[in-house]
Amino acid sequence: MQKTVHIIGAGISGLSAAVRLANAGHKVHVHEATQQAGGRCRSYFDAQTNLTIDNGNHLLLSGNHHAVSYARAIGTEAGLVGPKIAQFPFVDFTTGQRWLLDLGEGRLPLWVFDDDRRVPDTGVFDYFALAPLTWSSTRRTVGDAIRCEGMLYNRLVQPLLLAALNVDPPEGSAGLAGAVVRETLLAGGPACRPLIARDGLSAVLVEPAVKMLESKGCEVRLGHELREFVKSGDRVTGLNFGGDDIALGPDDAVVMAVPPRAAATLLPGLSTPTKFRAIVNAHFRFDPPPNAPPILGVVGGLVEWLFAFPQRLSVTISNGDRLVDQPREELARAIWADVCKAAGVSGDLPPWQIVRERRATFEATPEQNALRPGAVTSFKNLFLAGDWTDTGLPATIEGSVRSGDRAADLVLAMR
Ligand SMILES: Cc1cc2nc3c(=O)[nH]c(=O)nc-3n(C[C@H](O)[C@H](O)[C@H](O)COP(=O)(O)OP(=O)(O)OC[C@H]3O[C@@H](n4cnc5c(N)ncnc54)[C@H](O)[C@@H]3O)c2cc1C
Repeated sequence: MQKTVHIIGAGISGLSAAVRLANAGHKVHVHEATQQAGGRCRSYFDAQTNLTIDNGNHLLLSGNHHAVSYARAIGTEAGLVGPKIAQFPFVDFTTGQRWLLDLGEGRLPLWVFDDDRRVPDTGVFDYFALAPLTWSSTRRTVGDAIRCEGMLYNRLVQPLLLAALNVDPPEGSAGLAGAVVRETLLAGGPACRPLIARDGLSAVLVEPAVKMLESKGCEVRLGHELREFVKSGDRVTGLNFGGDDIALGPDDAVVMAVPPRAAATLLPGLSTPTKFRAIVNAHFRFDPPPNAPPILGVVGGLVEWLFAFPQRLSVTISNGDRLVDQPREELARAIWADVCKAAGVSGDLPPWQIVRERRATFEATPEQNALRPGAVTSFKNLFLAGDWTDTGLPATIEGSVRSGDRAADLVLAMR
């Protein structure tokens, strides 16, 4: 029987749930509070650089199976571009060394045994010392599980986990870090090819989903903020949009795919993470040098990752709370100095934009991870999605899509 499903929130989790349900033949209505779909994963035209930029540079890996399947479902898998082999160039500002971390094409992590492919100045046994991380309990921190110092830590583990967890790795959840390591480094080269939405997050991961939904007769309403659930017993029976209310039929279902603070307001008593961390992105209108890699890891700098896009160099700085109140131009100049060093370019500060997402992700510590709820609620026809729900992963696109897929599967299984 065809159900009508209301999805609250048009971020990646809401859109992925909507796409899965629409493909299963159900009537889907997506309600988004803001005037743009995409949530924390979106593009917009920036007058300062005269370019369409993303709110943040988003890196996916080829092993992000749910995210890649989602792109395939909306017809944009080819828009996720990256090198054919899992290779990551790095530069270390403290020593000036540059190297290519080459995870190769094989499933087995043989690169660890090859001096020319692993991180310089590290030995095989350094890698074995990471073993306790791979199956660590969610109650432990990374600092409890492994030694957070030394060349391998500084040059690989710290950059990888900082990007994935968005907290200083020693305080991060060892359980979440372990999931990342299992699904990336341990899964070998085929799972680690970097993928970037080169034509922009909205063009690759958001707008095609909206178009696909609309082509199937589904509706995506922007500027349509849910104010309250109407409940009766163990069911949600209506949606209150502030004067524009919708009554639900007995077979109808709802997926709430909003951020944690909005979720806690809409569903009082719901356990959600309460602490968040910022991510800072800087975009410079500057033609990358012809040999610039699409992504460069920077060790020992303010900049952590440098991305080369057509007409633009962009950087990501995770765990960026310390930078959110720094004067914008001062920050842009400091970042540009790092960009020049890393990319081997020079020149005055070009047109720039700084995007500081204050609540980019929940704080991936054991304490906050323990507050994440599952997808099921005490209401039989209401399910949760979002990168902050209990996906087993840190706040990532892969986690968002997994949560959306899971919520959709629960709706499909509903009797
Ligand atoms: C700067 C930055 C960089 C990042 N980098 C990466 C990366 O490199 N790789 C990666 O995998 N992930 C990255 N992430 C994380 C990724 O963006 C998120 O995990 C993902 O976008 C979250 O999607 P979501 O659907 O769970 O939540 P959201 O994107 O927050 O979507 C929730 C939606 O609900 C809407 N909403 C809220 N309240 C209501 C209401 N009452 N009614 C209707 N709608 C409502 C919101 O407006 C929003 O559109 C990054 C995030 C940021 C901010």
